[in-house]
Amino acid sequence: MQSVTDTMHRPLRDLRISLTDRCNFRCTYCMPRELFGAEHLFLPKRELLDFDEIERLARISAGLGVTKLRLTGGEPLLRRDLDVLVARLAAIDGIDDICLTTNGSLLTEKRAHELAAAGIDRVTLSLDAIDDERFKAINDVGFPASKVRTAIDNAVAAGLGPVKVNCVLQRGVNEDQILPMAEAFRHTDVVLRFIEYMDVGTSNGWRMDDVVTARQIVDTIRSRYGLTRLPATAPGETANRWRYDDGAGEIGIIASVSQPFCGGCTRARLSAIGELYTCLFGVHGRDLRTPLRSGATDAELSAMLAGIWSARDDRYSEIRGEETENRRGDADGRVEMSYIGG
Ligand code: SAM
Ligand code: SF4
Ligand code: SF4
Repeated sequence: MQSVTDTMHRPLRDLRISLTDRCNFRCTYCMPRELFGAEHLFLPKRELLDFDEIERLARISAGLGVTKLRLTGGEPLLRRDLDVLVARLAAIDGIDDICLTTNGSLLTEKRAHELAAAGIDRVTLSLDAIDDERFKAINDVGFPASKVRTAIDNAVAAGLGPVKVNCVLQRGVNEDQILPMAEAFRHTDVVLRFIEYMDVGTSNGWRMDDVVTARQIVDTIRSRYGLTRLPATAPGETANRWRYDDGAGEIGIIASVSQPFCGGCTRARLSAIGELYTCLFGVHGRDLRTPLRSGATDAELSAMLAGIWSARDDRYSEIRGEETENRRGDADGRVEMSYIGG
């Protein structure tokens, strides 16, 4: 196995693969209905990478040092026969961790077991409120929080753990759900992670004032429960980990806005049509599908990937602070979260 590092000496370790740009939710901060309504043109199936193409790029990435794959979207469970793809990815030499990020709406008991049997190691589910009505308003398709909680139970029962639950907080939308969310997952095997709302893409109209910061999240929980910071378990870990002093488990906080972690960022992202992005805040991806579909050899594709990664100098979150003043103008064209995955 070769190892490739970027201009800031960061190795390539993780590949996040978006399996589709479609979703059955219309979360107001991700795929707002005004922009992703009936007229929105989603990608036709032939545009999406097929399983052979995804497997091939994953194998070539593993040859350059990738050990971890995360399947995301859009909603990855909308992709038919996902377990077939997972089994193929799990068989790749060097891949030792395959995770799935999902809204849980399609994670039945049966599907959770099929995915576990195919080789998914861990699942992260997204849930932004415990209150059914609040959650229905956020996903904007009337999906109740209680059903996502059933999906979380299905993931735990299938051994897809430690199961994580992601909760994106927006000021004035769901910051009052911090304590109810914390309470729902205390004394369980589920690790709840609060996420600072990020300025991904351009369609959510993000403003710095909308962000509930890590400090505010910790203070809110500490108003009821003692919390102690835990050391990081792995280099490049995105979440700050905290444990409840009364032994009720731990939580994570992903402070991408207030405490950026670009220095340890080893993630590349592949869009559903095979563009490689070296940063979540990228404007242009690099097209790998054209060479894939026009006969490039593995060695050529590997050299292409290595070239893209070694030229990488992204550290968007670290420089966001300096640019916040004029960022509305700079934001044009940035890739959307639903297109590239979390
Ligand atoms: N549909 C799946 C889901 O919701 O889990 C996977 C794709 S979704 C884009 C991945 C994650 O990104 C979700 O946890 C979602 O809440 C999060 N996300 C989307 N937009 C975000 C934003 N602007 N800031 C922070 N997280 C965001
Ligand atoms: Fe869909 Fe996930 Fe975006 Fe919500 S956050 S709209 S579930 S892709
Ligand atoms: Fe990585 Fe870009 Fe996020 Fe920094 S801003 S942590 S480089 S994805």
